[in-house]
Amino acid sequence: MDVVAGGQGDLMNGDILTNGHGKSTVAARPLEDGFIDIPETASYPTGSLDFLVRLQKQEEKQGTAATVSESPSRVRLNIIIVGAGLGGLAAAIALTRRSHKVTVFEQAPELGEVGAGIQIPSNSTRLLIKWGLEPFLAGRIVKPHNIAFRRWENGKVIGLTKLIPQFERDFEAPYYVVHRAHFHDAMYRLAIELGVDIKINSKVHDFDESSPSITLENGESYSADLVIASDGLKSLARKKVLGGVEQAPRKTGFAAYRATVDVEKMNAYPDTAEILAKPNLNLWVGDMRHVMTYTIAGGKAFNMVLSHPDRSDPSTWHMQGPDKILSGMREHFKGWDPTLSKIIDMIDTTMKWPLLSGSPLKRWVSSSGKLLIMGDAAHAMVPYMSQGAAMAVEDAAALAEAIHLAANESELPRALDIWETVRRQRTGQMQEASLVNGKLWHFADGPLQQARDEGMAPEVEGRDFVSSPNQWSDPTAQRWCYGYDAELEIRKAFSKSV
Ligand SMILES: Cc1cc2nc3c(=O)[nH]c(=O)nc-3n(C[C@H](O)[C@H](O)[C@H](O)COP(=O)(O)OP(=O)(O)OC[C@H]3O[C@@H](n4cnc5c(N)ncnc54)[C@H](O)[C@@H]3O)c2cc1C
Repeated sequence: MDVVAGGQGDLMNGDILTNGHGKSTVAARPLEDGFIDIPETASYPTGSLDFLVRLQKQEEKQGTAATVSESPSRVRLNIIIVGAGLGGLAAAIALTRRSHKVTVFEQAPELGEVGAGIQIPSNSTRLLIKWGLEPFLAGRIVKPHNIAFRRWENGKVIGLTKLIPQFERDFEAPYYVVHRAHFHDAMYRLAIELGVDIKINSKVHDFDESSPSITLENGESYSADLVIASDGLKSLARKKVLGGVEQAPRKTGFAAYRATVDVEKMNAYPDTAEILAKPNLNLWVGDMRHVMTYTIAGGKAFNMVLSHPDRSDPSTWHMQGPDKILSGMREHFKGWDPTLSKIIDMIDTTMKWPLLSGSPLKRWVSSSGKLLIMGDAAHAMVPYMSQGAAMAVEDAAALAEAIHLAANESELPRALDIWETVRRQRTGQMQEASLVNGKLWHFADGPLQQARDEGMAPEVEGRDFVSSPNQWSDPTAQRWCYGYDAELEIRKAFSKSV
């Protein structure tokens, strides 16, 4: 571990806005004994202080206040990351940008991602763009205009979230959809360009949280200052962190079919071509089921996730064979909107995926303070907010920020403690919001469904609204979800804990 002298000064109250560098018009005062502290930020939901944050960001851009983000950390660590999924790569990028030395160990013989499409919401793109990912995604992303909720039976639009231009302006970042393989490849190439060492074919067999070190299946051992396990839903490290107690994600009683359709097939019919006319996300909702769709691969493929109730044992699914899985999928959505049914009929192959959810874990950092978990290993969630990978990107940014704020080695435990507290709360809320979407979307026709649809009508008709049953449109949920600044929240927590 190297400790670098100089850098940022001591933290004071309000440093979330001044970050300890340079002069800022939004600067805060030092704490004075005997006087009540005037808050610099609010712990309740409000947008009234947003202008201060915006002003600070403008100053940073103009160079009148130095940015914390670009400077190297004072404590420079030798870090091992286990898992080269989107979470592990995000951590590798965020930490290497802050001058840590990062080696990633991945069990797979080839790098890649399972499934086709993924949404990258604004709370994640804001970070990824800052990290320099955009050039690596060139020509591969789609920027949807709207998210349209459709009635299961006839495809009528019953809810509408506009993603451009105001959404993008409000949350200072675009909302993207992309092929998972393209996203992963972009993250991989950026990581390599930054100097991350990625070792494939390297399955970790054991973690020693005290040294800390890892042992591979082939018997080789590697040690570091910090081991980060981003080893997914079936994480091996989670049990180590929880002191030998396993708290695996649980079944939700839902599963998803995942498939893509060639857009050329869809363009052959006016009704299915109409769905492609604008690059929108279209979501059909009905009794216990929904179908999320959008185009990916720069508009060349139509991605579909078909969620449905399924309490059978996933270990038996491979025995069903592809034809039975396809016919099971069609059966679940029989009688749905004829346009959607036509698209479902165009699916040649599909994968069935169990949908699991975790609940907040007691800890993410082991008792030694040298092994931690993040990403799906720490906070698996149903994909109904489209935020699982986005949470891993936030975990990574927040972790790099927390370590960055440690002035020396002895402050590292406090930094990791703050990171764990802030991230447990944020991701626990996102797990909850994701399950809430499963409630809001899956009403059978009746009074609840009618009240929900009436609640969304203003957004479809262009009328003003202060709340919506559509969590993508609801102003309070939107602010919390997309306006969240993972690094800023760490700086706030640091200044509060002084
Ligand atoms: C149907 C569906 C739709 C989704 N849609 C979205 C969306 O639109 N937006 C969004 O943000 N999220 C979405 N998600 C969630 C998102 O896919 C996950 O949250 C994200 O991919 C998790 O990344 P991770 O790196 O934490 O885990 P993983 O992707 O599981 O990566 C873990 C990695 O660790 C490796 N590994 C595991 N064990 C070991 C070991 N012992 N040694 C070495 N390597 C190991 C694995 O091989 C793997 O590469 C969706 C999920 C599903 C199921």
